[in-house]
Amino acid sequence: MLGIYSFQKFSTLDFPGKLAAIVWFSGCNMRCAYCYNKDVVFGGKKIEEEKVLEFLKSRIGLLDGVSFTGGCPTMYPNLIGFATKIKEMGFDIKLDTNGINYDVIKEMAEKNLVDYIALDFKAPREKFYEITKNRHYDKFEKTLDFLINADVEFEVRTTVHTDLLDENDINEIVNILENKRYKGVYYLQNYFETDKETIGNIGPQKRKLDISKINKKIPLGFRNF
Ligand code: SF4
Repeated sequence: MLGIYSFQKFSTLDFPGKLAAIVWFSGCNMRCAYCYNKDVVFGGKKIEEEKVLEFLKSRIGLLDGVSFTGGCPTMYPNLIGFATKIKEMGFDIKLDTNGINYDVIKEMAEKNLVDYIALDFKAPREKFYEITKNRHYDKFEKTLDFLINADVEFEVRTTVHTDLLDENDINEIVNILENKRYKGVYYLQNYFETDKETIGNIGPQKRKLDISKINKKIPLGFRNF
């Protein structure tokens, strides 16, 4: 069973350099305080897999790729089968993930079922549980280590809500990525202010991250700042 919650026919923004459909998967193994996708996380299955595949078949040659997002798509082991069918149609696949389900991510990468991964680095180890309500920092780190050495394009990114993460936390992540010899861009995403209720009932942040205090020893990218 695949818990597809929603489906967008195309986007020019989500998959770098590609015109892509987006598939939202319900369910998540985290409960991030700032998460405003409660409807997706708790929404359950709303769309049949076959309906999505049928649509994609009609878009062969018109779309470049498909983005898997959520929630966390890797909650479903049969994501592998779904991705295989999509790759057989000739589409590239982007995967958004929090990195906890190492086995699914590894299998997708090793079977060439994913072309781009956006990996969330939620917080340094000491703050990981506080922010995500998930105790498996080690599993996230295993995925990060695997991707650094794997032959798949990926980015590391952190959503910053300054009530939860400050400049010291971000600099700690920069140090970790430098020590692990991460070669890509580390993206900092400013928390997107919304009227929607968040999982942790957290309100707007009181200040933005002070970018001048972030160590620039690895390439950084800034979104929504
Ligand atoms: S923000 Fe956190 S809780 Fe929400 S979907 Fe992403 S990983 Fe899951």
